[in-house]
Amino acid sequence: MKVTGDQALVKKINKSLILHTIRKHPELSRARISEMTGLNKATVSNLVAELQEDQLVLEAGPGESSGGRKPLILHFNAMAGCVIGMELRVKQLTAILCDLNGNVLSEADSLLQRHDLDDVLTEMKTMIAALIAKAPSTPYGVVGIGVGVPGMVDENGVVLFAPNLAWEKVHLRELLEESFSIPVVIDNEANSGAFGELNFGRGEDVRHLLYVSAGSGIGSGIIIAGELYKGSRGYAGETGHMCIEAEGIPCSCGSRGCWELYASEKAYDLASMELPAYRTPDLIGFAARGDATAERQFSEIGAYLGIGLTNLINSFNPELIVIGGPLSEAREWLEPSMQQMVAKRTLPYHKQQLEISFSTLGSRAAMIGAGFSAAMHFLGHTRVMV
Ligand SMILES: [Zn+2]
Repeated sequence: MKVTGDQALVKKINKSLILHTIRKHPELSRARISEMTGLNKATVSNLVAELQEDQLVLEAGPGESSGGRKPLILHFNAMAGCVIGMELRVKQLTAILCDLNGNVLSEADSLLQRHDLDDVLTEMKTMIAALIAKAPSTPYGVVGIGVGVPGMVDENGVVLFAPNLAWEKVHLRELLEESFSIPVVIDNEANSGAFGELNFGRGEDVRHLLYVSAGSGIGSGIIIAGELYKGSRGYAGETGHMCIEAEGIPCSCGSRGCWELYASEKAYDLASMELPAYRTPDLIGFAARGDATAERQFSEIGAYLGIGLTNLINSFNPELIVIGGPLSEAREWLEPSMQQMVAKRTLPYHKQQLEISFSTLGSRAAMIGAGFSAAMHFLGHTRVMV
């Protein structure tokens, strides 16, 4: 029989559906997959056999019987390959090696002194090569590299604009793919973080989620109906430049009174601390020792975080907001004033069944999400090969 394009596409979609059902629900039998997906048992059996051949699905011993022969249990083979997830921050580069289900196998990090492309690229390549060298032997090897960056990224993996790195139109995906011949996925770090939270953090089982990453600026990853919302060209989520003070401080973006000038590390009052420069961990250290100035700074930043969140809550009506990024580690001092501001200002109906929490993945959400994007990219390609 001649296979038409439509049939091949239907098969591809069905195979992908079965693979992701097995990945999300451990311990399924073929019969249970048939019930869950609505596909008939013969189709499930045939496609599971192909996935076993691809080494993406493994069969384990018999499960519980509901009468009759005990069914064989299927597992997603997370160790069919490995991926690398990386986050580029203004002062730091961090990366993990993980399996196809986001389990971390190895970690690396280094401080960045300089931001010119050559230096950063060299550092990235060294770190990636070191993690590749640590990868265990798997059927497919290292199948993808995901990178979260602090800037706007287009659909071709070009970093269009990263003001905090002074980067413009950097073809990062191309540069990394040339070096390693492994598919690379580049995304904004807030999108990566949202993807990490959705799959491994507080966001599991949530459909409408806002991930607000606060660090050297503010960016948001927006999940609507379970999908990352990127806007028409991929630039959605630049919430740090939402205006919260009509005639406020001038911003590098050309506007005034942008949220991140009041509610990120940009708001730190160095003069009052009598310090030339410090990082969030330093300020947390001061606050933890009961330094009143540090506590006051976090409390003010928390209140401004709450003002911006109120705008987002009224606009998007999310179920869950997760605060991530380096500032999330200062939860203890940010949260009271932030929650108070939201409680006072948000529309009453929007407050119902809304949870605002801090990232359980801490500052690792973006690299975990970036790695998982690379894994999903690979698994997507497997279904294209059908
Ligand atoms: Zn701005």
